[in-house]
Amino acid sequence: MPVEEVFIGIGGNMGDSSNIVIQAIDCLTKLTNTRMKAQSSLYLSEPVSEIPQNDYVNAVVLVETSLQPLELLLELQAIEHAFYRYRDPNLKWAPRTLDLDIILFGSRSLNDSHLKIPHPEMQNRLFVLEPLFEISGDLYIPGLGSLKYLIDKAPAIEINALSTISNSADRK
Ligand code: ATP
Ligand code: CA
Ligand code: CA
Repeated sequence: MPVEEVFIGIGGNMGDSSNIVIQAIDCLTKLTNTRMKAQSSLYLSEPVSEIPQNDYVNAVVLVETSLQPLELLLELQAIEHAFYRYRDPNLKWAPRTLDLDIILFGSRSLNDSHLKIPHPEMQNRLFVLEPLFEISGDLYIPGLGSLKYLIDKAPAIEINALSTISNSADRK
């Protein structure tokens, strides 16, 4: 069966977000016709939204899958649903328990009404680019450029690997 390498962005800022992200990664390892290849550390990032809300826990994983893009999107939405993701159609970028986005799907580009690939905001989001860099530093995204280049020009936000945060707290 033909397989594709897919990067999935994970985020959440309601409830016990680190725990939810870890559990979501576990769900992704169990996805049908899919194999987990790499997972980033967890990162804590400041929200990029007009709506005041808590910091986000973010991560990116790399899977290999024979699912088609829309099939994978449905699986991701089922996992979001299992963690009580609620979407208010009138509120964009509202707080959420869990958000799973397809960032890259092999070298495909897709402009479906339900699915855009590469994720149209990836180049503007350090909370995607930093964890992506950790697991696939030499990535080159056709039409956008190298990951290093994207990181250098993305809008600055506060983002820290969670392990680094606990280490610096230990040193105090
Ligand atoms: P953003 O897409 O800017 O990160 P969001 O994740 O908060 O915002 P959602 O409410 O989770 O947005 O999703 C809205 C719709 O985006 C979904 O119903 C889905 O059909 C669509 N969508 C389009 N492209 C993608 C993608 N690459 N990954 C996940 N969902 C996508
Ligand atoms: Ca998102
Ligand atoms: Ca989403």
